[in-house]
Amino acid sequence: MSISRGTTKPGYPNRNGQLNIRPLMIPGTDHGQSLYQLACTHCGTNYAANGSDIFQRKCPNCQDGNPSTGGWAAWTPG
Ligand SMILES: [Zn+2]
Repeated sequence: MSISRGTTKPGYPNRNGQLNIRPLMIPGTDHGQSLYQLACTHCGTNYAANGSDIFQRKCPNCQDGNPSTGGWAAWTPG
């Protein structure tokens, strides 16, 4: 089963309107995976996802998707 078809490239938009921003260069939560920063094109939320999840990822804020993988946050207020 082939998983990635450009999904790990920055600028890749998935079918849910989630945009691949950049690789985070930190290990993911699945074996052999690493995390990528995604941005929701609907509400602007930034979060992390395993490379293998990018193609089907949903926004944790407006699409009822899973929380940011690995607890990663784009920024910490305060
Ligand atoms: Zn969203």
